[in-house]
Amino acid sequence: MNHSEELASPGRRALFRRLVKPKPVELPESIYPRPPWAQDNQTFLALCDRCDRCIDACPQRVIRQSEESHPVLKGLPVLSLDYGRCDFCDQCVDHCPTGALSKEDGRRIQAVARVSGHCQLTLNQHCDFCVDACEEDAIRIKDQRVQIDEALCTGCGECSLDCYDKAITLHKRC
Ligand code: SF4
Ligand code: SF4
Ligand code: SF4
Repeated sequence: MNHSEELASPGRRALFRRLVKPKPVELPESIYPRPPWAQDNQTFLALCDRCDRCIDACPQRVIRQSEESHPVLKGLPVLSLDYGRCDFCDQCVDHCPTGALSKEDGRRIQAVARVSGHCQLTLNQHCDFCVDACEEDAIRIKDQRVQIDEALCTGCGECSLDCYDKAITLHKRC
């Protein structure tokens, strides 16, 4: 039996297909949070057509185009809470024409606050601006340290805005 006759047999073809089964393509993932209500990474990448309507619709100006170099990620909308807060006004999701942002399964929280800088408390100073800023009651001070309850945090960014030392920053929720 020559090589092409061998592959022509159904058993051989099945074995060949198993051996050369294509590997699933690994999709790149942004290091930044997406706007609220963004679908999971795979669905979002498939649906978002970079129309920028969410960016234009955001009254707080906290959505911007990603500058990541990967061609799949570049230009897609990301949430940027360095100088603003999100008040979950719905404008981004309501203006998304493709369903990349979708209210179907409720609000998908994309960001989370973390203590990352030089908090005044670590210098033995008194400060509780972040505690007062958090409407979700997600921040506590214990043993002269800020503690953030990630389960309660909505990633709004208010605590970061109110911290004069920028000791709290917002990150992609994993
Ligand atoms: S919910 Fe409102 S404030 Fe938040 S990112 Fe969307 S448009 Fe901007
Ligand atoms: S409005 Fe929707 S489709 Fe357009 S850029 Fe934003 S997420 Fe993508
Ligand atoms: S991001 Fe918003 S919800 Fe989360 S800890 Fe800060 S103020 Fe609270």
